[in-house]
Amino acid sequence: VAREREQRRLVILGCGGFIGSHLLDRFLAGDEYSVEGWDRSARRLSPHLGHGDFTFHQGSIADAGAELTRAIEQADAVINLAAICNPAAYNTQPLDVIHANLFDVYPVVQACAASGTWLVHFSSSEVYGRTIASYLPSGGYDDPRLYEFEEQTSPLIMGPVSNQRWTYACAKQMTERLIYAHHKEDGMPFTIVRPLNFFGPRMDHLPGRDGVGTPRVLASFAAALMDRRPLMLVDGGSARRTITSIHDAVDAVELMLGQPGQSQSEFFNIGNPDNELTVARLAEMMRNTFATVTGDDSYRDHPMEHISGTSFYGEGYEDCDRRMPNIDRATLMLGWSPKRSVEEILLETVEEYVSSEAARPDTAAHVD
Ligand code: UDP
Repeated sequence: VAREREQRRLVILGCGGFIGSHLLDRFLAGDEYSVEGWDRSARRLSPHLGHGDFTFHQGSIADAGAELTRAIEQADAVINLAAICNPAAYNTQPLDVIHANLFDVYPVVQACAASGTWLVHFSSSEVYGRTIASYLPSGGYDDPRLYEFEEQTSPLIMGPVSNQRWTYACAKQMTERLIYAHHKEDGMPFTIVRPLNFFGPRMDHLPGRDGVGTPRVLASFAAALMDRRPLMLVDGGSARRTITSIHDAVDAVELMLGQPGQSQSEFFNIGNPDNELTVARLAEMMRNTFATVTGDDSYRDHPMEHISGTSFYGEGYEDCDRRMPNIDRATLMLGWSPKRSVEEILLETVEEYVSSEAARPDTAAHVD
């Protein structure tokens, strides 16, 4: 059948995560792609499980064995999203973090190298570590060359080994280096994606509802607001992040897959330089967004507390001060530019948090 001949085959590892589930929404909506996916959890996958172009394997990529090797051999591209990518784990479960982000991924890299399959690997903006500016006694934030991240020229700066916060950044960097080495030595086609704080519906677990432990900042704030607990501002909430809509991010991946000649052998920052804010400002915006979405104005004065990074995350935590991407490469090579504002992103995300909270019978009382 013509349709089947033209379909491109994707393998998506970590297809049930936040980013993976949004990629499935996009790729399974049309008939250009068929997808074979792996994930430990099917929690976000219910809309796709019966889809004729989707084959799902539940389990870790570490246990996928010959089935995964066969899928990689048959694929036009492999998108790797399998990872542990929650800062609360970096210094508390360092071995799990190193294994999930380096050793478990290596067989995938080897299989892609052996079969010459294009590997689109989701790395992290954490590979850049901290900015040069953060190490200068007087700061250096008035000179973008001292803080802006550019794929091919910025140094990758990490703190000491005893600050285990860097296990993630270091494992991600080593995986990038393995991929690049296989590209150079075996000609393996690759694309490295470095995401900068993708936000959107279904992001992270909400503690006490659909998971345990501290999630990343957006879900931490959402859960605290729903539970009427104070928002915790780590080290005063002075760290800066740039917020990228998951939909803008999915646009970028679609453009990459559609233009292999433009995206192979490239490293791409996928981020939104126009959406920079401090974590303290994010906390304020989350309070206001909750008030808007629920109609409950008391959220606008919801309490906030300051806490040190060590008290919040435990020993060995160290923060990335600022993450400002240079996205010229993605704009030039892919024709991509992010479009959605922080207000828009938070509104959409909080609407989803609040409506799924209301739909949960045992916790419905948390939202008025
Ligand atoms: N953070 C915070 N309160 C929280 C959770 C996180 O102030 O309840 C801070 C954290 O210290 C960091 C920023 O928010 O400066 C972003 O953290 P996140 O967990 O989202 O991941 P990151 O962007 O560091 O990868």
